[in-house]
Amino acid sequence: MNTEESKKLFEESGNYFPGGVNSPVRAFGSVGGVPVFIKKAEGSRIYDEDGNEYIDYVNSWGPCILGHGYQPVVEAVREACLSGLSYGAPTRRELELGKLITQCIPSMEMMRMVSSGTEAVMSAIRAARGFTGRDKIIKFKGCYHGHSDGLLVKAGSGALTGSAPDSAGVPESYTRHTLLAGYNQEDTVEELFRQYPGEIAAIVVEPVAANMGLVAPKPGFLEFLRDITTRYGALLIFDEVITGFRMALGGAQEYYQVKPDLTTLGKIAGGGMPMGVYGGRRDIMEVVSPLGKVYQAGTLSGNPIATAAGIATIKALMDRTDIYSSLEQKADTLVQTLKEILPGAQVNQAGSLFSVFFAKHPVVDYESALKSDTRMYAKYFHYLLEHGIYTAPSQFEILFLSAAHTQEDIEETKRIMKEAAANL
Ligand SMILES: *Cc1c(COP(=O)(O)O)cnc(C)c1O
Repeated sequence: MNTEESKKLFEESGNYFPGGVNSPVRAFGSVGGVPVFIKKAEGSRIYDEDGNEYIDYVNSWGPCILGHGYQPVVEAVREACLSGLSYGAPTRRELELGKLITQCIPSMEMMRMVSSGTEAVMSAIRAARGFTGRDKIIKFKGCYHGHSDGLLVKAGSGALTGSAPDSAGVPESYTRHTLLAGYNQEDTVEELFRQYPGEIAAIVVEPVAANMGLVAPKPGFLEFLRDITTRYGALLIFDEVITGFRMALGGAQEYYQVKPDLTTLGKIAGGGMPMGVYGGRRDIMEVVSPLGKVYQAGTLSGNPIATAAGIATIKALMDRTDIYSSLEQKADTLVQTLKEILPGAQVNQAGSLFSVFFAKHPVVDYESALKSDTRMYAKYFHYLLEHGIYTAPSQFEILFLSAAHTQEDIEETKRIMKEAAANL
């Protein structure tokens, strides 16, 4: 595979951007080698600057559920651009998108639009603290909620409380109120509520953990979170930035039939344009300014182009009622293949979301995920890449399917995956 052009671009980009990229995982740090620079994308395919073509299973990390360059979305964006790119004033289109979101996710009675998933979760937590008058939050090890200071905590060196930040530049005082629990480990949550009764504002959770590879909630886990938050007067926040409009039109809360107090969206909600949304119970959202005392604002919030893309995407999803069963079917096929060809690995799945762990033991939480063989993953990843299959350059990311993946794409992917397994 020729990657001369990507090599040149990556080298030069290193002079201008830390690590040559504008988001860390893109630099291929954990798999080695040089990232391919993307020139264009269409349907299920992306193309790099050297003219290589790939079947894409990253899909911009989720947003492009209809496939790249889906015509009705592109048309909606093109048309919106002709009326100006941003006004900093309310628009009819925001109202239209808001109504669609409530229609799909009824628990989001009232919402606020922002410009990224990071912003959405950060702001939802501020609203939860403002509403409850409490400071502490519980997050789960291995769950990612964007890069805001208080949420950059994964592993508190064995301790469950007094969490140390993951990143330099985050003062310990910023994460003092972030309590860590184990995903799928109910006793760790109970222990925190026993230790801090009346101090915990909210639990924030990915209802399906999809940022440590794929880890599904064990049966009853989400119901348990619903129950214990209610019991202690804390709020339940579902971070559905990935699962929203992907597990089902109504997200993981529809799929698992558990209703959170607040929900965060991103990724698909903007159909490929920068967009985040947080919302939920009306009485909670009424604490947000200008109605209430929780301040939150944004110059480009509810941007006319992003809302146009979001509306067109959600409408297409509503029209294509078979899309979720079709995505799941494609996932089932690939998962089945992977289980056959990689008997020593773990293949986790929830709905159409799935990932492979090169690990001998079942992966059910952060600790078991971390025991994966990342070098084996790197080898597998590079084989796929060199043979036209673009997957995430990290063991701890999932595969994203789109409506544009054809049966032929899936067959071709199976074939290359088999070769990759034989070459490990
Ligand atoms: C991607 C992601 C975020 C952050 O969204 P950005 O738009 O990258 O800021 C937050 N939560 C989850 C679950 C995500 O997957």
